[in-house]
Amino acid sequence: IVNDSKDSEKPRDKLLEDLLTSDFDEDSCLSRYQSSLYRKPFPYKPAEYLISKLRSYEKLHKRCGPGTEAYKQATKNLGHDDENYANKHVGECKYIVWVAVYGLGNRILTLASVFLYALLTERVVLVDQSKDISDLFCEPFPGTSWLLPNDFPLMKQIDGYDKGYPRCYGTMLKNQTINSTSIPLHLYLHILHDSRDEDKMFFCQKDQTMIDKVPWLIVKANVYFVPSLWFNPTFQTELIDERPEYNTVFYHLARYLFHPTNQVWGMVTRSYDAYLSRADETLGIQVRVFSRRAGYLQHVMNQIVACTQREKLLPELTTLESQVTNTSRSKKLKAVLVTSLYPEYSNNLKNMYWERPTSTGEIIEVYQPSGERFQQTDKKLHDQKALAEMYLLSLTDNIVTSARSTFGYVAHSLGGLKPWLLYQPARGKTPNPPCVRAVSMEPCFLTPPTHGCEARRIVNSAKVLPFVRHCEDLRHDGLKLF
Ligand code: GDP
Repeated sequence: IVNDSKDSEKPRDKLLEDLLTSDFDEDSCLSRYQSSLYRKPFPYKPAEYLISKLRSYEKLHKRCGPGTEAYKQATKNLGHDDENYANKHVGECKYIVWVAVYGLGNRILTLASVFLYALLTERVVLVDQSKDISDLFCEPFPGTSWLLPNDFPLMKQIDGYDKGYPRCYGTMLKNQTINSTSIPLHLYLHILHDSRDEDKMFFCQKDQTMIDKVPWLIVKANVYFVPSLWFNPTFQTELIDERPEYNTVFYHLARYLFHPTNQVWGMVTRSYDAYLSRADETLGIQVRVFSRRAGYLQHVMNQIVACTQREKLLPELTTLESQVTNTSRSKKLKAVLVTSLYPEYSNNLKNMYWERPTSTGEIIEVYQPSGERFQQTDKKLHDQKALAEMYLLSLTDNIVTSARSTFGYVAHSLGGLKPWLLYQPARGKTPNPPCVRAVSMEPCFLTPPTHGCEARRIVNSAKVLPFVRHCEDLRHDGLKLF
C-alpha cells in the first residue's frame, strides 16, 4: 500500500522487527499487524534489550493481571484506613494505575511514560477504563487485560486525588510524613503541569528506593516524563543499551502499545486510501490554537504559509500568465493532510492552490478529515476522530506541527518524523521565523524538574546529560531526548 514499489516487494514485517508478539488473533485488532503496510521502513530497529524486556513484561502481566490470584492478593487490604504494608501479605506483584486525564495527546504520552517506568521497575500497568480507552485502543498484552477492573477498591476515590490527598507522594515529602519504616499500600503520583518540585522527585534514585516497595502507585499525569527517567543512574544504566538511539524511545514504545481499534483503523485506512495513497508526496499540517481567542486567526494562517513555503514543503504561487509555460514541467501530486479543530485553515489553503498555479507545476491537494470546532474529550466518536487524525498525520512524509501541542507530539513521534514546529504566536503576530525544524522525533517534556536529585538546588536540567536538551518549540524550556 505504501507507494514505493520497492517496499511492496519486501516480505511484510508485521511483527515490526519482533517488537510485537505473534500471540494475537489478527482480526480482532487489524491495525496491530496491518500498520506495517502503511508505513515506510524505519532506519532504527528496536533494541534487543527492549524486545526481551517486553517479552518478560508480557509474562509478568499475565501472572499479575486482573482475575489472577496475585491481583486478588494485592487488592485485598487496599483502601482500609490502616493501610500499613509492614504486617500484611500483599503478594509478589506491584502495580501502577494510569488514570485518564486531559486530552488524548496528553493521555497517549503519559501512558507511554508510565509503561516505560513500569518496564524499568517491573510493575504491572493497569489503565483506568472509566473513560473511552477501550473504544480507542486494542489490548496490548496477550492473554490478559490492561483494563483496571471496575471493582478496584480505590475506584471511587481516584477521581478526587490531587496534591491535597494525604497519600500524594509530593505532599508526603513536603510534610515529611513519609519514611522507610511505614510503607503505605498505595501512593498517588501527581505528574501534572502544576507539579511541585517534590512531586518531580519521584524518579530520583533515593526516592525510588522507597517508592519501589509500595505495591500500588496511582498516577495522574499530563506530561511526557520519559526524559527525567534518565536522571536516575539505576534507570540510566538499564536504558542505555549497547546501541543507544535515545530519540526513538516513544516511537518504539508507541508502536508496541497503541493499536487503534478496528473502528478507528477503518477511519485511518479509508482516509489514507482516498486521499494519501496516490500522492507522490504527502505533507501533514497540524494546527492547534492555544490563544484565548481560538478559532481562525489570520496571523496563524500567514504563519502556516510562511513556514511551509520558506522550508520548501509547499510551492510558492505564481502568476496566472506563467502557468502556460509550466505545463511541460512535472505534474507531481502533493497531498496535504490538515488537522485542526477549525476547518478554515485547510479551506484557505485549498483555495490558494486552486485560484493560482504553483511555481513548480506541482498539483496540491488539500484534505482535512474533521473540523470539530471545540474539544470534546471523552465523547467516543470525537476521541476516535482525534486518534485517527493523529495516526494519519504520522503516515505522512513530512510534518508541520504546533508548538506545545501533545496532539502534534504524538503525531510526529509515532511517525518517526522530525517535525517543523510552528512557534506559538505572541500578541497576535506571526512569529519570525515562523517555525523551526526539530532535531529529534521525540516528544517534549513540557514541565521538567528545575532541581537536581541530590541537592535540591536549581540546575539547568538541559545541560546535565549529553542526549537531553531543551525543546525547540519552547526555546529555553522543556526537555527532550535527541
Ligand atoms: P493538546 O491540547 O494540543 O496538547 O492535545 P490533546 O490531544 O491532549 O488535547 C486536545 C484535544 O482537542 C484532542 O484530544 C481532541 O479531542 C481535540 N483536538 C485538538 N486538535 C484536534 C484536531 O486537529 N483534530 C481533532 N479531531 N481533534 C482535535
